[in-house]
Amino acid sequence: MSSYANEAQYPPLGLLIGGQVISAGRDCIPVRNPATGETLGRLPMATEADIDDAVSSAAQAFGSWRRTAPHQRGVILRRVAALLRQRQAALARVLTLEQGKPLPDAMAEIAACADAFEWCAEEAPRVGGRILPSRDPALEQAVHYEPIGPVAAFTPWNFPAVLAVRKIAPALAAGCTIVIKPPEETPGAIGMIGRLCLEAGVPAGALNILHGVPHVISERVIESPAIRKVSFTGSVAVGRVLGAMAGRMLKKVTLELGGHAPVIVCADANAARAAEASAGRKFRNAGQFCHCPTRFLIHESLYETFVERFVATARAIRVGNGLHENVQMGPLISRRRVEVMAALCDDASTRGASVRTGGRAPADAGPGHFWEPTVIAGASRDLRAMSEEPFGPIALMQPFGALDDAIAMANDVDLGLCAYAFTDSVDATRRLRHGLEAGTIAFNTFQVVAPELPFGGVKDSGVGYEMGAEGLQEYYRIKAVVQASP
Ligand code: NAD
Repeated sequence: MSSYANEAQYPPLGLLIGGQVISAGRDCIPVRNPATGETLGRLPMATEADIDDAVSSAAQAFGSWRRTAPHQRGVILRRVAALLRQRQAALARVLTLEQGKPLPDAMAEIAACADAFEWCAEEAPRVGGRILPSRDPALEQAVHYEPIGPVAAFTPWNFPAVLAVRKIAPALAAGCTIVIKPPEETPGAIGMIGRLCLEAGVPAGALNILHGVPHVISERVIESPAIRKVSFTGSVAVGRVLGAMAGRMLKKVTLELGGHAPVIVCADANAARAAEASAGRKFRNAGQFCHCPTRFLIHESLYETFVERFVATARAIRVGNGLHENVQMGPLISRRRVEVMAALCDDASTRGASVRTGGRAPADAGPGHFWEPTVIAGASRDLRAMSEEPFGPIALMQPFGALDDAIAMANDVDLGLCAYAFTDSVDATRRLRHGLEAGTIAFNTFQVVAPELPFGGVKDSGVGYEMGAEGLQEYYRIKAVVQASP
């Protein structure tokens, strides 16, 4: 594919400020296709004046958007959902070009964006206050929910469309306006979604999109007094920095950070079925998602059967350019991530673990950032990958004897986003539900993300929730009202 052909399929890139797409006269950086290394487009970088303009546009638009009836905001957001469904194929293609995931997965991501807008459109009009009977008959007491104000959001490259939408949709539904910095690696699809929001009737200034030097934007936006809430999805290291800034400025914060999910395969599970389901999910998006199953703790009676079936399933996965038919796993986002995979695999080999498949870049990787689906068996606790989130296609296997040991091993990391288990035992299920330290626990399934489900982590995995009624609440402030009867 020539670079001209790629550019022809990729949208023009720009900032979105006060309803205007801005690109002229700004420094630009290239955006590259991670499967081919080709340049897709040139991304304008926001100046300090652009950042200030985006914040003041959000502050200005907040005045009227907060007073727009929730029902009317819902009408507009449902229109966004309809446009997303209409243009799903074009958006998905852009997502695959810039992020690398196979086209069917990109289609699913855009469908999830539409679902999120629709769910928020329906849920926000149901957010009501409370009347509280007073102990003094002369007083009336109530709790009101108000949109918290303009929001600053920062989102990553692994699901660049839906992770941004999971902040934009609840913010707009609640009556907030938003300044968002999506990732510089993957700006195309979210830029298209921004323009599509305007077309659906989201007022100018209610949604502003900035790209640039990440720390320059986050420092300037979070410091701004107009911004009342900060929401970030990404690494623990960056989450700590942004959380500290928000704390210093006394702003409400939501942090959706990393995970290192354990999968406990109990003695009563069907090892082959659990292995196939696990390998199918592990290598989705090349393992680059925060709730990715990573540490497989398998009852010793099933260990070899599980590992063998998992390895066979991993070997059968077709790796390649996500635009090509039948490809099941695309590239990693960058050369840097490939180097991290190599270092984690080298470390595992040095410490005596066995790389049962993968552990290298495919021979025909070319300039793309590919890494083979990798299975490491006999993964002892001292492996780097056992405590450091691989965020890539590496699965770690460990046997266990007693369930309590498996629970202790599962909890033996600083992260606690999701945990999975395969069992139908009532007793095991109860012990796992109570014992596992995670924001989400799933039995016999990996389907843990839905618009109606709150998603969030414990320990270093984050603060607060995204989506679900609990996630929507994060975009409101509470006002207690007390009134004396005349
Ligand atoms: P990174 O922390 O360098 O970057 C992640 C994202 O944060 C990027 O899109 C970047 O633009 C943004 N960012 C970085 N510094 C920022 C700042 N000061 N202000 C605002 N935004 C900033 O991570 P990486 O090396 O690109 O990715 C690998 C690690 O990131 C993984 O180990 C994983 O833990 C984490 N990650 C997590 C998620 C998630 O969904 N939770 C997504 C992507 C990356």
